[in-house]
Amino acid sequence: MKKVVSMLLISVFAFVLTGGNAMAYQYFNFYRMEGGISEGHYSIQTSVTVVYNGKTYYIMRAFNNAFTDWRQRSIANLVSGNLTDAKVVAYSVDLDDKHLYGICIWYKGSTRMDIPNDHWTKAYIALNLKGIDYHQLTETEYTAVAAHEIGHAFGLAHDVGTAQKPKIMDEAFLVKGWYVPQDDDVTGVRKLYEL
Ligand SMILES: [Zn+2]
Repeated sequence: MKKVVSMLLISVFAFVLTGGNAMAYQYFNFYRMEGGISEGHYSIQTSVTVVYNGKTYYIMRAFNNAFTDWRQRSIANLVSGNLTDAKVVAYSVDLDDKHLYGICIWYKGSTRMDIPNDHWTKAYIALNLKGIDYHQLTETEYTAVAAHEIGHAFGLAHDVGTAQKPKIMDEAFLVKGWYVPQDDDVTGVRKLYEL
């Protein structure tokens, strides 16, 4: 995944610049959701159940639970709503990469950003059915992937400097069993939005 490679380079560079004293949470150069994430809504564009490869996946429930996890633990307070003016749009995809669990794409108006180079007005996040099916992720695990992608939509990037600190934005969050936003993620979001 090109995005991951690029973000790794950015993170390593930042780590060197700060003499190894980098904070755990990482940003996309402090870019963030315009209008903040304390109010507004998200919209889930899937059916209640999604059948893939003969198995049933609860993508809508996963995203709803992931947004609830963020609401209960942080200043993020987006609620479920319709597609119009949704700040985050969630759906499922079938991308031909069995090691890709989820994606996030940012938009400023109609301009797509694969890595943010400006503030954004909307983010699209998706679970990749091929990936979660190939690795036989449990609902708890793919709900964690949803929470991780929400973290990207809010403006958190991956961390490579202090991987021992629990965080949903760690690249190995599933392996380490960090399934919901952790203190570090919450601190990162709060500081990004100056709350
Ligand atoms: Zn990620």
